[in-house]
This record gives sequence, C-alpha cells and structure tokens, in this order.
Amino acid sequence: MKRRITRRDFAHQLKDGGFWKSAGTPEDTVRDELGRMLGAGGFDADRDVEAITVNRWSHGYADEYNALFEPEWPAGERPCEVGRRPFGRIAIANSDAAARAYTDGAIDQAWRAVSELRG
Ligand SMILES: Cc1cc2nc3c(=O)[nH]c(=O)nc-3n(C[C@H](O)[C@H](O)[C@H](O)COP(=O)(O)OP(=O)(O)OC[C@H]3O[C@@H](n4cnc5c(N)ncnc54)[C@H](O)[C@@H]3O)c2cc1C
Repeated sequence: MKRRITRRDFAHQLKDGGFWKSAGTPEDTVRDELGRMLGAGGFDADRDVEAITVNRWSHGYADEYNALFEPEWPAGERPCEVGRRPFGRIAIANSDAAARAYTDGAIDQAWRAVSELRG
C-alpha cells in the first residue's frame, strides 16, 4: 500500500531539502513546466526566462497542529508545551512555542516567557 504523506512530512522534506533533491530545484521545475505548457507556442525557457526568484517560505512558518491528524495529547503535553518549559533561567519564546505560524503567537509567547522569568 502506498504510504500517505502527511502535511508535516512534506513540510519537513521542504525544509531539509529532500523534496528538491528528488524533484529538482524549484527554478528548474518552473522552467520545465513553462516549457511543457507553452513550448508548442514557441516559448523557450532558456531564452525567454531572465531570472526566477524562489522564496523558500517553508522555513518561515511554525508547525501548526491539525486535530485531524495529531494524537490527543494530555493537557500541557503538546510538543510545543513540553519544548517551551523553562530551563533554569532560560525561558522559551517564539511562534514555534505556540505551534502557531503567525506573529500574534510569537508575541503571546514572548509575554509568557518574560512573565516566567519575572516569577
Ligand atoms: C512569507 C511569510 C509571510 C508571513 N506573513 C505573516 C502575516 O501576514 N501575518 C502574521 O501574523 N504572520 C506572518 N508570518 C509569520 C511571522 O513572520 C512569524 O510567525 C513570526 O515572525 C515569528 O516570530 P518569531 O519571533 O518566533 O521568529 P522570527 O521572526 O523568525 O525571529 C527569529 C529571529 O532570530 C534570529 N536568529 C536566528 N538564529 C539566530 C542566532 N543563532 N543568533 C541570533 N539570532 C538568530 C533570526 O534572524 C530572526 O530575526 C509570515 C511568515 C512568512 C515567512
């Protein structure tokens, strides 16, 4: 049976570069797809594409949990909650600590982390 790839697996493949090793670089993929779509009309990617910029944004987003695919962790035991526990006088902020890929998550976690240090 073919293994189903989860969204998290795919994100990790994007982050560690494994996906691009098997698929070619994003730049190559875009050139190839444009050539196959438009080649019959005379398009030549080598001639007609000046440059391609790819932002590898998968590095920029915290991993969010999806209730459909995650286990039911006991209260306080989600990986982000375990990972953000204070360690001596080290407190953990950032959006990963919230498992939320948006700035408000990072701000809330910063507030919590500073509060932990203040006791
Ligand atoms: C393309 C894109 C679009 C987005 N759009 C939105 C949006 O519209 N709205 C929204 O709310 N959120 C958006 N986000 C998400 C938002 O940017 C993040 O949730 C937020 O920036 C996370 O904040 P953070 O403090 O956890 O991490 P970051 O903002 O990533 O800050 C981490 C900082 O640590 C620095 N750093 C890393 N390693 C070291 C080191 N060894 N020593 C010193 N410094 C180090 C980095 O340079 C960086 O400045 C977007 C993200 C991306 C990538």
